[in-house]
Amino acid sequence: MKLLTFLANWYDANRKKHIEKMRLEGKCPICKGVGFETITTTYIGHTVECHSCNGTGLYTEWEKSNV
Ligand SMILES: [Zn+2]
Repeated sequence: MKLLTFLANWYDANRKKHIEKMRLEGKCPICKGVGFETITTTYIGHTVECHSCNGTGLYTEWEKSNV
């Protein structure tokens, strides 16, 4: 179980680091500021508007939906 805890902490630290970086840049952490997400399946890849920031790509919009 110690390994699982270690992995969970590592994942959490990386996530926080990523979010902090995006915050400084003012970008949505989910889509990295582009406003849409790419969903890739086996045959096709298509983009959908990022629901976390409503397609704006802004950190402030992401923050609003993640309080
Ligand atoms: Zn987004």
